[in-house]
Amino acid sequence: MAEIIKQTAEWRTGTITEIIVENPRVHSFTIDLPGLGVHYAGQHCDVRLTAPDGYQATRAYSFASPPEWGDKLQITVQMIPGGEVSGYLDSAAKVGDQIEIKGPVGYHLIWRASENDRPVGLIAGGSGVVPLMSMLRHHKESGAKNDMKLLYSARTHQDLIYQSEILNKDFLSDGRDAAITLTEAKSTDWAGYDRLIDPAMIQEVFGDLDRDWYICGPTPMVEAVATHLTSLGVSPELVKTERFGPTG
Ligand SMILES: Cc1cc2nc3c(=O)[nH]c(=O)nc-3n(C[C@H](O)[C@H](O)[C@H](O)COP(=O)(O)OP(=O)(O)OC[C@H]3O[C@@H](n4cnc5c(N)ncnc54)[C@H](O)[C@@H]3O)c2cc1C
Repeated sequence: MAEIIKQTAEWRTGTITEIIVENPRVHSFTIDLPGLGVHYAGQHCDVRLTAPDGYQATRAYSFASPPEWGDKLQITVQMIPGGEVSGYLDSAAKVGDQIEIKGPVGYHLIWRASENDRPVGLIAGGSGVVPLMSMLRHHKESGAKNDMKLLYSARTHQDLIYQSEILNKDFLSDGRDAAITLTEAKSTDWAGYDRLIDPAMIQEVFGDLDRDWYICGPTPMVEAVATHLTSLGVSPELVKTERFGPTG
């Protein structure tokens, strides 16, 4: 198995080349970042904004892009009401803008297709789907054949990110699969789950629980799901988590 190559993350200047409106509160930014170098699905970067008076704000954003996209980095940002950095990116950032980024950062959540062929369980809440999408895209781009299932919890259908992939039968092939729960589903047309993730849902979606697990989302959701997995007999050593923030 190839060793993980750890780089010292440095500040670099990238250029926004595309902004994708995933939904009214979520935008994906494709950023040309020369020199990004070796990175892995599940890692993140720090984004630093500097105001004209020199005031700086730095926040972490996961890679949505897989390593196969090279220096074409993608991040996906959910606008938090009153949020300094997400608010700026949501309302003011435009194609052609330069942006300061330090990365790759974080080596605990990574998934590498070359590592093994064990089944993988991905569980996301809200924008926590971002690093897990990097893993699904890496699975596709690398031609991996592992069983890799995503259980994704969002409030409503409109809040789902990456709809063109996670609802697309062509993307969900070769071992990739996704199940969705909409915790505030209002439409009677919705035939999927419509409650918070619970042990019965995990059992039903994943079947065999002997997997490598990756959980990401708001802090309370991550803690609840990790507890559910333990109650189902999953060894904590198989569970990797990333907490995005204080609330849902
Ligand atoms: C490792 C890591 C990876 C992350 N990856 C992503 C990502 O891919 N996409 C993404 O959208 N976010 C991601 N986040 C969250 C991100 O770093 C910021 O916390 C978020 O964008 C809010 O920053 P802000 O400056 O807009 O809000 P702030 O000005 O920092 O906060 C405004 C208000 O919102 C609350 N708040 C702060 N963060 C959150 C949050 N995440 N959820 C709910 N309330 C919050 C604060 O308590 C405060 O009341 C990640 C966080 C970590 C630690």
